[in-house]
Amino acid sequence: MPTGASATSSGTQQWRSGDSFLSMWRELAPVGRHPDSGGYRRYAWSAADLDCRAWFRTQAEARGLTYEVDRNGNQWAWLGDPLAGDAVVTGSHLDSVPDGGAFDGPLGVVSSFAALDELRSRGAAFTRPLAITNFGDEEGARFGLACVGSRLAAGQLTVADAHRLRDADGIALPAAMESAGYDPDTIGPDPERLARIGAFVELHVEQGRALDLTGDPVGIASAIWPHGRWRFDFRGEANHAGTTRLADRRDPMLTYAETVLAARREAELTGALATFGKIAVEPNGVNAIPSLVRGWLDSRAADQATLDAVVTGIERAARTYADRAGIDLDVVRESFTPVVEFEHALRDELARILEGTGDTGRPVPVLGTGAGHDAGILSASVPTAMLFVRNPTGISHSPAEHAAEDDCTAGVRALADVLEGLACS
Ligand SMILES: [Zn+2]
Repeated sequence: MPTGASATSSGTQQWRSGDSFLSMWRELAPVGRHPDSGGYRRYAWSAADLDCRAWFRTQAEARGLTYEVDRNGNQWAWLGDPLAGDAVVTGSHLDSVPDGGAFDGPLGVVSSFAALDELRSRGAAFTRPLAITNFGDEEGARFGLACVGSRLAAGQLTVADAHRLRDADGIALPAAMESAGYDPDTIGPDPERLARIGAFVELHVEQGRALDLTGDPVGIASAIWPHGRWRFDFRGEANHAGTTRLADRRDPMLTYAETVLAARREAELTGALATFGKIAVEPNGVNAIPSLVRGWLDSRAADQATLDAVVTGIERAARTYADRAGIDLDVVRESFTPVVEFEHALRDELARILEGTGDTGRPVPVLGTGAGHDAGILSASVPTAMLFVRNPTGISHSPAEHAAEDDCTAGVRALADVLEGLACS
């Protein structure tokens, strides 16, 4: 019997969304949680990721759904005929950033199962196939590229480029998939599968405070800002920290530090976001002047011109500092996602379905976001929409990430309403 289900006298089962949400949430909570940080380390194809995947499969099978893994390792749970076409698909991801929060990803997957339970308890009659998904390797924490599972399916990542992805230990993506028991030889574009989707709706915890500021538990996404990752390699000269005169040094750490400050300045000037959040140093010794400092810039903006301006400004500043200090600089754009406007017809349909269903009596707010999602990748191939659940502090990608239980319940209800409106008679 599924979690949260109870047998009725007629022998059929009844699901209550609150019950099933909470019991699923509690089951998933300890998986991949680091005891010291309290954050999640559910990296793609790791043991914790496999535990999450096993949990997904158990949830699917407990509900009598048809379980599948697609050619790119994404998990699917189908109600109705997977081949019938015009399916309504919902879901998100279960992997995490390093020491990530509990909600980013899992809230969407758990809410999807809970919304199905809610619809079954309402006695909803489905007229379109419904599927729940877990897209693999959304965060890109291990191989440095976000949304690998959905990018591969949508043909936005070539097989050759996927084979080149390596983790910090030099393990290639196909090898990691294989050691996790998945077949890496099948990866690649999956247009037939995407063609079966009539609408994809991803529920996600908000990664900002817009809903907190408007006082709404749930919102609808309008667009995802253009965003990308750039690698800055600053090369100088390794030397002894105790014997090398300051004047004789070619220290790339100094140039890197100046570049970090320039990034902040450029971001403030342009109204964009720019973050150096990851760094690698060689030889990485306490008593050694570095030979190499490699810093990764994450930058996002509401529009393409602003993003171009901020990244160009940061690179220009970095080159000026590097030239002055005798440092060699290489800048490589490692990934880029253009602005995503979610399909207006589907977005408006969600707004219509949810009109008057919330507790506020106001229309559900429609908001843009600086965070990337599988829904953004898929939107190039299928009609796609997103629901956001209020995050009272806006903190995300941190153990402090949070959503209140009542808001999670409101999210499940909204998702159930949307799925009912789209997939039921
Ligand atoms: Zn996410």
